Amino acid sequence: MTESPQNALLGLDIQELSQLAQRHGQPEYRARQLFDAIYPQHLDTLDSVSTLPKQFLTALKNEGVEIGQPSIEKRFQSIDGTIRYLLAMADGETVETVWMPEGDGGETGDGSEAGDSDWERATICVSSQVGCAVNCQFCLTALLGVKRNLTAGEIVGQVTAILNDRGVDLERQRVNLVFMGMGEPFLNYAQFMKAVRLLVEGVGLPASRMTVSTSGIVPRIVDFGSEPLRPKLAISLNAPNNTVRTQIMPINKKWNLELLMQAAREFPLRNRERITFEYVLLQGVNDQPGQAREVVELLRGVRCKVNLIALNSGPGIEFNTPAEENVRGFQSVLMQAGIPAFVRRPRGRDIYAACGQLKRTVA
Ligand code: SAH
Ligand code: SF4
Repeated sequence: MTESPQNALLGLDIQELSQLAQRHGQPEYRARQLFDAIYPQHLDTLDSVSTLPKQFLTALKNEGVEIGQPSIEKRFQSIDGTIRYLLAMADGETVETVWMPEGDGGETGDGSEAGDSDWERATICVSSQVGCAVNCQFCLTALLGVKRNLTAGEIVGQVTAILNDRGVDLERQRVNLVFMGMGEPFLNYAQFMKAVRLLVEGVGLPASRMTVSTSGIVPRIVDFGSEPLRPKLAISLNAPNNTVRTQIMPINKKWNLELLMQAAREFPLRNRERITFEYVLLQGVNDQPGQAREVVELLRGVRCKVNLIALNSGPGIEFNTPAEENVRGFQSVLMQAGIPAFVRRPRGRDIYAACGQLKRTVA
């Protein structure tokens, strides 16, 4: 898969910026000035970097270097305050990124943020690839196939572009990130992890307020467990057994539930940390009480919680959304077995911004 052809500063770490400064015969401290401009200040044009000498700026521009923030092509505003952004990369490829004021109720989901009312909080849902190759049968992004991976700079740039557009002051507002937009982050692992480090060390967002969701790329779950700095882990379970899971998530043929649950059980959790299992409820397919009991068995021995998501429907999706009482019924089986289970409130369904609805629609 090809990478974006841009000549962007976003995505470079401090060592790479040092090399750039050195190549231009600039003193070492210029690298730090560039870093501060791109990440903590998230400036979007070279001309606004007032700390750098004109001649260095000109030399960079002559090389075609830019900061490389994606440009906002469109904003779709939901009645619930959610905004879906269509963002364009340097090569014209577009992805969607979603702003959810007050979060989506699922990023912690366990009430641990209750009482935080002094803070305005919001969640940004970030994409990791242009499209997705995993082909889950209930997901609109899957219909696009995968066009290419995003670079670390393009992943960070989604966040900085939206922080700027929303005028967020990170001193005053709490921002959570969920890597649950378009794409499978663990099929773009190196760039995704580099983006995480830049977001933590540069932009200043703590990894403890980030969650990455994977469809179950087992070897990367193992790698992720040994990262010194990492977001929280969410796994898209979506089925009570291999038969159903293979039917709705073809990736299950490669890494089945035995392999997935083994990786989950062995995942090194931190103090008080839990794995989140996401479960999209599809009417008559995976939403029956007996299937909830199978899920209870599957999750035995894993410190976890479950986020239930009633299907967000869309054109070309063959499944139906279950009735509210089935969703509640499924939830109560899990709860009675001692598994914390939360029903995720859909955000921005009216503008196709909800889970599984991102497909670069232009209206
Ligand atoms: N590719 C990653 C992350 C993005 S998808 C993954 O699959 O985990 C984020 C979540 O949205 C996943 O849990 C997925 O199962 C869920 N999802 C996908 N399509 C959906 C739909 N149509 N309705 C509700 N949730 C959906
Ligand atoms: Fe890809 Fe996730 Fe959609 Fe599956 S649910 S197709 S992994 S984006």
